[in-house]
Amino acid sequence: MIVPVRCFSCGKPIGSKWEKYLKLLEEGKSIRESLDELSLKRFCCRSAIMSHVESIDVVGKFK
Ligand SMILES: [Zn+2]
Repeated sequence: MIVPVRCFSCGKPIGSKWEKYLKLLEEGKSIRESLDELSLKRFCCRSAIMSHVESIDVVGKFK
C-alpha cells in the first residue's frame, strides 16, 4: 500500500524517508548506503523501508 508513516516496532517516523530512499537508489547507491544516509540505524526501521512495495496504484483500480 503506502509506506508506513512510523516504524511499526519503534515508532520512528519513516514516512518522509521513502521518496529520498528511492532517489538515492536511482542515483546508483546500494540499499545499505541509502539506509545509512537516511540515518535509519535500527534494523526494524531498515526492514520497514527495505521490504516496502508501493502497490497503491495497483490496488486503487479495485476501489
Ligand atoms: Zn524502527
